Amino acid sequence: MPRQFFVGGNFKMNGVSESIASIVKNLNAAKLDSTTEVVISPPAIYLALTRELANPNIGVAAQNVYDKPNGAFTGEISVEQLRDAKINWAVIGHSERRVILKESDEFIARKTKAAVEGGVSVILCIGETLEEREANKTIEVVTRQLNAVAKELSKEQWEKVVIAYEPVWAIGTGKVATTEQAQEVHAAIRKWLSETISAEAADNVRIIYGGSVSEKNCRELATQPDVDGFLVGGASLKPAFVDIINARI
Ligand code: PGA
Repeated sequence: MPRQFFVGGNFKMNGVSESIASIVKNLNAAKLDSTTEVVISPPAIYLALTRELANPNIGVAAQNVYDKPNGAFTGEISVEQLRDAKINWAVIGHSERRVILKESDEFIARKTKAAVEGGVSVILCIGETLEEREANKTIEVVTRQLNAVAKELSKEQWEKVVIAYEPVWAIGTGKVATTEQAQEVHAAIRKWLSETISAEAADNVRIIYGGSVSEKNCRELATQPDVDGFLVGGASLKPAFVDIINARI
């Protein structure tokens, strides 16, 4: 079975109830490619509102989740609480959390395990900084980030993960990776899946690209054999998000 194309919208810390409701209503009314899986990720306080307003075919993702089941962890949200609010996805390991909030590979791996074990699928973000790319360390960095998760997940659990390759230098900068740069890293990630996890995981796990994806560059990126979709930041707040969801039609 071919991998289902996947487009995520990461609203980050943007929007209030009125603007988020208007984005969701526009998406509900738009004609979306029915073969593409769409998941939107509003700030935590608007998860329940988004779930209530969005059509059932649109998934909703938290932008983070904690690795412990409950207890004295002020400010955190558990996997069970997400499930209770009918939120079936979480974005984990976004570079803004890795870099600004100093989340380690191991912490991200533990959160991924907690989410998957609790029935929440994960958009696992990985990617190199500009400095790392210039030092030719891209594959080394993404492999290190993936290996940390591989220590925590069983081979079967990878089916609940979508890997988002997001070069840090391309996020929010308007500087998109070239089609060749994206395909090269995606192919390396698929090779890693095949060698480290299983042939099934290499066939089935979606590897999506993120970093300055727009309605202008998405079509060419979508033609690449190992690009199974996108994680969209800035453009997911705009009407152009519909064009990105429909990149293949
Ligand atoms: P961007 O963000 O599309 O605004 O570059 C992507 C992301 O951070 O997921």
